[in-house]
Amino acid sequence: MEDCIFCRIARGELPCHKVYEDDKVIAFEDISPVSEGHTLVVPKQHAENLFEISAEDLTAVHLAGQKIVRAIRKALDPVGVAVLQLNGRGVNQIVMHYHVHLIPRAAGGPALPVSDWGAQEGDPEALAGTAGKIAAVM
Ligand SMILES: [Zn+2]
Repeated sequence: MEDCIFCRIARGELPCHKVYEDDKVIAFEDISPVSEGHTLVVPKQHAENLFEISAEDLTAVHLAGQKIVRAIRKALDPVGVAVLQLNGRGVNQIVMHYHVHLIPRAAGGPALPVSDWGAQEGDPEALAGTAGKIAAVM
């Protein structure tokens, strides 16, 4: 994609604070970090989201993500790392090129909004109904 910002970063046309690169994947610091070490893992081949990405690129991104999360653990010693991936403008995907967020939380750092959503137990009948709807179209 000609004007896609992540495609341009992958082609070296725009700068980034690079953490990792191989033939299929590039990873760099998010320019609007939620916390220190907030890193994006991006396939070099354009795909908008999880609905579109190839199995090969999906695998490459997540295997690279595991290497990077281990490096984040060594370098920054966080108390945990949230892994987040958004699909669609309705859930605030801003750059429409598949990417995985690795978001560490430092010891004593503020709670991460992405992992502190006040989960409450759901209604078993509603859960069964939803599971049935999804499973029926798999
Ligand atoms: Zn792109």
